[in-house]
Amino acid sequence: MSPAVAAATDVAVSRLDARAYEVPLDTPESDGTAEWASTVMIVVEARAGDETGVGYTYGSRACRPLVEELLAPAVVGRDALAVAAAWEAMVEACRNAGAVGVASMAIAAVDLALWDLKARLLGLPLATLLDPARGAVPVYGSGGFTSMTDAELERQLGAWVEMGIPRVKMKVGREPADDPRRVAVARSAIGPDIELMADANGALSRKAALAFAEDVLAPAGAVWFEEPVSSDDLEGLRLIRDRLPAGIDLAAGEYGFAAVDFERLLDAGAVDCLQADVTRCRGITGFLRVAAVCDAHGIELSAHCAPTAHVHPCCAAPRLRHLEYFHDHVRAEALLLDGPAEPHGGCLRPDLSRPGAGYDLRRADAEQYEIR
Ligand SMILES: [Mg+2]
Repeated sequence: MSPAVAAATDVAVSRLDARAYEVPLDTPESDGTAEWASTVMIVVEARAGDETGVGYTYGSRACRPLVEELLAPAVVGRDALAVAAAWEAMVEACRNAGAVGVASMAIAAVDLALWDLKARLLGLPLATLLDPARGAVPVYGSGGFTSMTDAELERQLGAWVEMGIPRVKMKVGREPADDPRRVAVARSAIGPDIELMADANGALSRKAALAFAEDVLAPAGAVWFEEPVSSDDLEGLRLIRDRLPAGIDLAAGEYGFAAVDFERLLDAGAVDCLQADVTRCRGITGFLRVAAVCDAHGIELSAHCAPTAHVHPCCAAPRLRHLEYFHDHVRAEALLLDGPAEPHGGCLRPDLSRPGAGYDLRRADAEQYEIR
């Protein structure tokens, strides 16, 4: 047994702390169905022995008291090397509060912190501990908000292409009359060879979505149509999927929390590519179970947002297509984290030179954003 492993055995989680941070945007943003002016990140630190693991989620500030009230009592005192046992205890502790939504995101932040902690205790990069299927994770640039001017849209998408990212996603569906022009602007900004993706965030009706795909997305050579209708409308997603022009994949799944949410999407034949978010679907433990469900259905998985948190688990997920390099989260992670994800050649690579998930909270820099 190596000294690191020998020292790490029999180490209990001694404390769990949650903090909330709110990073204001330069200008308010919108998509097909929401408007926002800031990014809220809930950061959890899990301590065992001399090591601290860090995890986070983007969600309601209600995640923080939930960690304190329900999750910390379920996790503190447990074996820091048995993350699955802590995960089961957290899900059980949230039974009466409802283990989906906010609770699922709070569990995700703790689970990410526990996996980081375990890897640090064992002196291993997290990707190595999780057993990597790949050493690099392809990304797509994501933003293209409906609140942007054409010039801003052009600049943002063009910048990702200049960085070497070969695929970009834009928001659609807020003002459908503007979208043909916006999609044309996007295509001309990225040139003919870059993959163009569109996300309506559930803004459209079934008929409007199909007409948009045929009249606008297909002529622009788009390859991805995300949440054309609400993700709750499984029949609608399936119908649109079956009628989409060739070459356009239908995607959804970002609001999945429990494994059964993803199983329902797949069982309904609702998607060509399933999305899942490690910071929403109960962390790495939940994400890898979703990946297994995807694998069983022969459907590819695309990771949603929070790029830094996804790098190591995405290395271990079967059938991974790509990871969303989302503008707001890239910005928040650069401000709040040491070791934020930075793509090279269109991919993110895990930092194998340090133990854990490769990032830390920049506590002093983050202080100005803390919600107390
Ligand atoms: Mg989306």
